[in-house]
Amino acid sequence: MTEYDAIVIGAGPAGSTAARLLARSGAKVIMLDRASFPRDKPCGGGVTIQAANELDIALTPVIERTITKAQVSFRLGGAFHREWPHPLAYMTQRCRLDAYLAEMACEAGADFRDAAQVRELEAHGSHVIVRSNGDTLRARTVIGADGANGITAQALGFISEQRRAAVALEGDATIQNGSASRWEDAIALDMGAVPGGYGWLFPKGDHVNVGVGGWKYIGPALRERLSELCAFLDLDVAKLTNLRGHHLPLRDAGAPIARGNSLLVGDAAGLVDPLSGEGIHAAFLSGRLAAEAIQRYLAGDADDLTSYEAAVDRQVMSEIEISYKLQAVLFRFARPSVAVLRHSDRFWGRLCGLIRGETTYAETQARLGPLRHFFNGLAKVSAIGLRR
Ligand SMILES: Cc1cc2nc3c(=O)[nH]c(=O)nc-3n(C[C@H](O)[C@H](O)[C@H](O)COP(=O)(O)OP(=O)(O)OC[C@H]3O[C@@H](n4cnc5c(N)ncnc54)[C@H](O)[C@@H]3O)c2cc1C
Repeated sequence: MTEYDAIVIGAGPAGSTAARLLARSGAKVIMLDRASFPRDKPCGGGVTIQAANELDIALTPVIERTITKAQVSFRLGGAFHREWPHPLAYMTQRCRLDAYLAEMACEAGADFRDAAQVRELEAHGSHVIVRSNGDTLRARTVIGADGANGITAQALGFISEQRRAAVALEGDATIQNGSASRWEDAIALDMGAVPGGYGWLFPKGDHVNVGVGGWKYIGPALRERLSELCAFLDLDVAKLTNLRGHHLPLRDAGAPIARGNSLLVGDAAGLVDPLSGEGIHAAFLSGRLAAEAIQRYLAGDADDLTSYEAAVDRQVMSEIEISYKLQAVLFRFARPSVAVLRHSDRFWGRLCGLIRGETTYAETQARLGPLRHFFNGLAKVSAIGLRR
């Protein structure tokens, strides 16, 4: 039986990033995915500049639009436009993005098997055993990168019950020639209509992706919210294709994501930003942090992979904690927040800085000075009764 240095379960942005970096460092890596590639995934496919800059490879071959503008509305009314002189995000389609990232992992030397569902895995002290399609694979370490509905988090005993999650519903629409130029370099965001979330339109090469997402309890109302959003954006909801709902898993602070020789990355670890619903940045970042921790372990410089969890707490969870607070305040005071977004160039500039990765939530909070105590209190009060 071939023994690998690492088995990566799941070939989304998190798994492919970890596999690519590990293979490039000389490790013997195999990545398994249950889907046949190229495969799609419910996702807006928006890759912020912050996320793209986390990678050491260019996404150019899969970028379909570059966004510098946003149409913002409040409860499907009063739309206004905001613009930034530099790119804010790239629009991709997940079937193309993920196939490209998997290809880059293979080019770096990783083995990749698609249509290879992992059904069982066992972590022992010095090795892991993974069973897929009748094969038994053995490795020194394992990365659970199998997303929101994967099996590794439970199989490895990291979670015993369903974790906190947000939900989203999205679909694709073709656009009439007349309105194509409207969305060439602009997205639409509608705030205030969906508790804890927003509605969006993200343009792709030959269609637009439209969706609504928010706290889990809003799930049954999402279809109606999506119909209303489509009507507002002049799209025919009856003609949406690929209509799909999906969870966005949210990690509780302190929840374990690394132990012994196994760890979780991306959605499997629940690393979605609660305010924006963005998960691709944390997928790339956690993939890199996982690869670095495994390299240290394989080199004999660490006894286990727990340094990965500490790195995620420092670099991802510290931001997610503040994102939760912002989400509570911005949603509780949605109307004034949208008004500030409309009229304050400073607020808009800071938001663009966050999206571009030029600043962080922590820096933004620190800039409040003594007012941050007021912000923390307001966030606490705002959160009461919001997330049922
Ligand atoms: C509607 C919606 C819109 C979103 N829009 C955005 C957006 O615009 N921008 C953004 O940054 N984030 C967005 N997100 C979040 C983003 O999609 C995720 O955070 C991101 O895909 C996480 O990447 P990942 O690699 O961790 O997991 P995934 O991309 O989910 O990949 C997991 C992989 O594991 C495989 N797998 C699962 N089980 C097994 C198994 N047993 N064996 C083998 N393989 C398995 C799956 O087939 C899949 O390929 C959105 C999410 C939703 C639901």
